[in-house]
Amino acid sequence: MRRKWVIGNWKMNGSTRDVLDWALRAGQLAASEACTVGVAPAAIHVTMALGAADKSLLVGAQDCAAVTNGARTGEISAEMLVEAGCHFVLVGHSERRQYWHETDALVARKFKRAQEAGVTPVLCIGETRDERERGVTEDVLRRQVAAVIELCGIEAFAAAAIAYEPVWAIGTGLTATPEQAQAVHAFIRGELFKDAAMLAGSLRILYGGSVKGNNAAELFAQADIDGGLIGGASLVPDEFATICRAAAR
Ligand code: PEP
Repeated sequence: MRRKWVIGNWKMNGSTRDVLDWALRAGQLAASEACTVGVAPAAIHVTMALGAADKSLLVGAQDCAAVTNGARTGEISAEMLVEAGCHFVLVGHSERRQYWHETDALVARKFKRAQEAGVTPVLCIGETRDERERGVTEDVLRRQVAAVIELCGIEAFAAAAIAYEPVWAIGTGLTATPEQAQAVHAFIRGELFKDAAMLAGSLRILYGGSVKGNNAAELFAQADIDGGLIGGASLVPDEFATICRAAAR
């Protein structure tokens, strides 16, 4: 059985005091609940979160550069994340794709760099509302995953996770129904990874998009949903705790 993961994506939120509080609380959950708990603070807060939390908390980054150390003002390399102690890094979050125009090819390079440096990539994929309405959700997901498979090989996913995050559900309060989400997760596992059956069975596929304390249990009860990537609700410690408990059932 795949142990569930719950990762809080704190995005560009939190003062020093907030981060210390949130990390401490998340660390307590990591130590006590029967699920793996992680948080992705802003890069400048990673070291602080690692210092404040129980060692069982996974701390990751929200992005990394697609190239190694060098002349890229403002960027943070995967090596720097490893040195800081990051356990994972999100790549291809829809906000990066939308606001920084990250392409599938660029996201694939970031995925590769993360693995080369020794930090686990969590590949974020998902369709926009328009793409869902046009009935091309599966094509979009196939294209997003194929870019990584072409560059890194399908076996690279043995040391990675996927977060399915329908863009129309992120930060909107609209959640995919458990049935909608399960159908997509089953497609990813069964169709996109059909050439690697063993790997497909162990691949962690998280759901993200307006997961809250009151809908997490139903989502996490689905056969192919292995936990969640949580935005807004991860900034509210009691809400995040309810979500982690739902994953630990
Ligand atoms: C996210 O940004 O990864 C996310 C899932 O956000 P929210 O939970 O706020 O929809």
